[in-house]
Amino acid sequence: MWLDVAPLLELTQKATEADVELALASRHIGDREFATLLAPTAAPFLERMAHAAQALTRRHFGRTITLYAPLYLSSYCSSGCTYCGFASDRKHPRHKLGFDELEAELGALNRMGIEEVLLLTGERTPVADFDYILECVRRAAKHFAMVTIETFPMTTEEYRALVAAGCTGVTLYQETYDTAVYAGVHRWGQKRNFLNRLEGPARALEAGIRQVGCGVLLGLADPITDVLCVYRHVAELQKCYWRSGFSVSFPRLRPEAGGFQPMRAVSDALLAQLIFAFRLALPENHLVLSTREPAKLRDGFAGLGISKMSVASRTTVGGYDHTPADKIGQFEINDARGVDEFCAALRTVGLEPVFKNWDAAYR
Ligand code: SF4
Repeated sequence: MWLDVAPLLELTQKATEADVELALASRHIGDREFATLLAPTAAPFLERMAHAAQALTRRHFGRTITLYAPLYLSSYCSSGCTYCGFASDRKHPRHKLGFDELEAELGALNRMGIEEVLLLTGERTPVADFDYILECVRRAAKHFAMVTIETFPMTTEEYRALVAAGCTGVTLYQETYDTAVYAGVHRWGQKRNFLNRLEGPARALEAGIRQVGCGVLLGLADPITDVLCVYRHVAELQKCYWRSGFSVSFPRLRPEAGGFQPMRAVSDALLAQLIFAFRLALPENHLVLSTREPAKLRDGFAGLGISKMSVASRTTVGGYDHTPADKIGQFEINDARGVDEFCAALRTVGLEPVFKNWDAAYR
């Protein structure tokens, strides 16, 4: 089964410097080369990997960085993920955007120049259920060229209804592909169903979603095993849904005020190695870095493998139109720059921010 990455992991563990040289010289980075580039012995080659990643990013994306903004619709959740500020045992008031508030938030994002909005909720609850998300998508699609969601895994029929309402993309991180760790950190709720989540992206693509985002929470389990699984997952989906677009994100867990500590810390150097290896293996796919990372690090990775970034993010429910009622977000933001400041920083290093690269008329 594609999820068995043990042979690739062995390659990673045994790769020599000569193997890394061969992988870097290869015209096509396949399974073996990707696994080799993740090896500890590839770490001294980071600068060469960076040059190659930058060249490929420029070839496929030019000097552009695609920007999007997240909009949290609701902080209600029925699940108990240890790493999340919205887990149902966290004692703080919950909120959900009413449709008038939603319109105000969408208007505020429009005025900031945003053209792609990512709508987020927790797991399915009676308060924020499928019908609520469907209506939010329908309303957002009137304002934005791209409307993507990061919510709970849905059925194919539900995804089909979202496509009809104007949803263009689905982000569904597996969080970790390590089933034991998955069971440990997802203490209760629907999210404990590993397989339902694993098969979610395929259902979305089957329903006609144009863009699917994959990833893991770096810091939950062994990062090398997890990114090998992400790579295999994307490769497997691409075989069946080759007309669709795919992206990979690199959310890195940090110690949280709520007491959560990442089990496996991922250093900046390892994060760089992962991003560069993915760029070499998946040259045409967006690689995404969010505002979880600090400004200096985001500026460094922009165009150096990373081709898409969130900007001006709030992880509280709402917060663009007026001060959010919530004080607690899903996670902490480390790059608080607004759109203008971030775009100016990109232009300083010769990159052009892109808000829209297709029109809703082609939906
Ligand atoms: S990660 Fe998602 S499912 Fe888990 S507690 Fe947070 S909002 Fe709920």
